[in-house]
Amino acid sequence: MAAEGHNVDATLLCIGRDHGHYFQKKTFGKPTYCHHCCDKIWGMLTQGYVCEVCNFVCHEKCLKTVVSFCSGVALQLIKNPVAHTWSEQGYIKRHFCCVCRRRTEDQLSLECEVCEYYVHVECQDLAVSDCKEAATYVPNLDKAAQKQHHHMREGNLPRDSKCVVCKKTCYSYECLAGMRCEWCGQTAHALCYRQMSPECDFGVLRKIMLPPNSVTIPRTELPMEQLLNIHGIQIDSSTRKVSSPSKITSDDVSAGSSEEKEREDTEFLRIYDGNSSLRNQVYRTASVPKTATVQQIRDAALRRFHIQDNPESYYITQVLNNGEEEPLEDPVPLRNVKRPEGRRAQIFLRFKDDPEKAVVKVYGGWLRVPVTFCAITVTKETLVQDVISEALQSFGLDGLTWNRYNLIEVSLDRGVAERTANPQENMLQLVRNLRKDSLRRYHVVRFYVQEKEDPHDHAVFVGNLPVSLAQRQYERILLKLLGAKEKPFTAIGPIYFEYGSLVITFNTPKAATAAVQKLQNATYEDKKLIVLCLPNVQVGCYAGLLYKVELSKYPEKPMEGGYLKSCLTSSPDEDVC
Ligand SMILES: [Zn+2]
Ligand SMILES: [Zn+2]
Ligand SMILES: [Zn+2]
Ligand SMILES: [Zn+2]
Ligand SMILES: [Zn+2]
Ligand SMILES: [Zn+2]
Repeated sequence: MAAEGHNVDATLLCIGRDHGHYFQKKTFGKPTYCHHCCDKIWGMLTQGYVCEVCNFVCHEKCLKTVVSFCSGVALQLIKNPVAHTWSEQGYIKRHFCCVCRRRTEDQLSLECEVCEYYVHVECQDLAVSDCKEAATYVPNLDKAAQKQHHHMREGNLPRDSKCVVCKKTCYSYECLAGMRCEWCGQTAHALCYRQMSPECDFGVLRKIMLPPNSVTIPRTELPMEQLLNIHGIQIDSSTRKVSSPSKITSDDVSAGSSEEKEREDTEFLRIYDGNSSLRNQVYRTASVPKTATVQQIRDAALRRFHIQDNPESYYITQVLNNGEEEPLEDPVPLRNVKRPEGRRAQIFLRFKDDPEKAVVKVYGGWLRVPVTFCAITVTKETLVQDVISEALQSFGLDGLTWNRYNLIEVSLDRGVAERTANPQENMLQLVRNLRKDSLRRYHVVRFYVQEKEDPHDHAVFVGNLPVSLAQRQYERILLKLLGAKEKPFTAIGPIYFEYGSLVITFNTPKAATAAVQKLQNATYEDKKLIVLCLPNVQVGCYAGLLYKVELSKYPEKPMEGGYLKSCLTSSPDEDVC
């Protein structure tokens, strides 16, 4: 689920007025509410519509004005993905899953610590990484001309929410409905959303809110949970690496539930979307008629992997025992398919690869250029640096300055994971390998151009040290905890002696990352240290506001709801604007 908004670009996929939903007409046997206008769908015989993929329900009359994108496509429409910071799993009362729109209390669920995103553990794979963009600073951009937009989140509104447009109630206990801005808290009906003024003034917090376009967060390889030091979260770094295969839950079980019982005339197939998925036994199941044609099987497979693309570009093969594959052939392809003893037939979904060329989309993202992406044709000779150069030109920047930029491979599944591509890498090979390994993953991988230069000082806050020591003593403790002979940091201070906390600064992200990892696991005098990477305020970009920094207060209430959510203010050593 993602509603229309400034961080959503419907042109990233070919999506019509249906917003990617597969609407089916339905007569509801019990009272049902429209997810679009919040009203009841009245009468036993009145027809409504329901989406097969995401369970979005609406009146026939509301179809025309839908603003919520289907969870099947939403992830691919986000311009600048930002990973959510997941809480621990639990049964969350009185909320709805943002992916399947069902209640969260019936199944193990998670919520985002930073924004109002709720999701079942089972639906987490399809969660849309569109958390609040808390740090959008770009050097050389005119801040005055930049506007803050609302960041609308659908559903789970506070009770008594009123629509800013029509002034009527817009929350619902019955379904995922209504919308709320993550910044200013304004609420509206999805039906009324388009009449809201697009600009966001941060609401009641406007006087103390630091606008995201004057903030940077350090670029490190640490996942957000660790960067923000959110407690109680076990970070499994293996699921974070771009190089690791995407984990697609096997859903033999759910596919066999309720309506889709295996019938005489249908067959369940195990579908792999690539070599790495087969290696890791990660597949999805699809049910097809035993007499299905090759084309029907292919289309069912595409749908199971949420791939919305020209179906003609894909084909299917069967996986043989020795790992080889063999094309399926009409008229009745399933008749001759091998079924390893007691198991389902195994099918590969493949892309019709062109060994000579490919079209690659490159995103402007963090450069905040007016175009979301450009499409670049790459051939056998194209290197990553050529792609950067061409993309810069399309973005209206100087292509000759390619060596000041990196191409970042960003994977959107399971959060947001990044890898910096080597400028000498062969682009065509890179893309072909991705497709061969997992088509689903290929569809949720993006290439972004990003400035190499990190405008950030790497300041790290350390708290829970003994109080009232001398600077020299603090330095000695830190060196010991870091296991270093020489100071790996370039500066220490300010020191908040009465709180036993201080800030150390590093000149490279690598040094800062290494230190954070060591210190977050360290204890001193039986007390666990509090360690945070600090965001930076870019000086001179937001005149008229005065920030008093009281960093030493943070440790008292360190992590309720995430560092950025509760206390995004300036880092301590910055000048005041
Ligand atoms: Zn309606
Ligand atoms: Zn849908
Ligand atoms: Zn769900
Ligand atoms: Zn979030
Ligand atoms: Zn707003
Ligand atoms: Zn309204």
